[in-house]
Amino acid sequence: MDIIKDEFTKKSSKRMEIIDVTNDVNDILKKYQLNEGIVNVFARHSTAGIVINENESRLKKDFENTLQTLIPENNNYGHDLIDNNADSHIRAFFTGSSETIPINKGSLDLGTWQSVFFVELDGPRTRSFAVTIIGK
Ligand code: ZN
Repeated sequence: MDIIKDEFTKKSSKRMEIIDVTNDVNDILKKYQLNEGIVNVFARHSTAGIVINENESRLKKDFENTLQTLIPENNNYGHDLIDNNADSHIRAFFTGSSETIPINKGSLDLGTWQSVFFVELDGPRTRSFAVTIIGK
């Protein structure tokens, strides 16, 4: 049983963007030739999230629209007095900052319709993600 620490970076191109990082995580897993275990993907940011869902373009747009409806911009937030991105932080409270996924035969053991997404909530910018693996 090993504990492996790795990381990857991803660049967003919009203020809000849902980016599939499944292959980035699987590429890291391949490097270590593990059979089984778990992997944690963690966004080192307070205005970006990690979630698992289906990579379907209309659904991703629906999720963006829902976040914007539930948590609008410029809503008299106290944090906007500091750096004007309270909506990004509040959206990130709901997405969460990590997911832990089982590994099977060296790859993410996701369901057929599941992908791992980085949710950019205050882009565009480059984000870094910690990947921690416990496996053998
Ligand atoms: Zn802020």
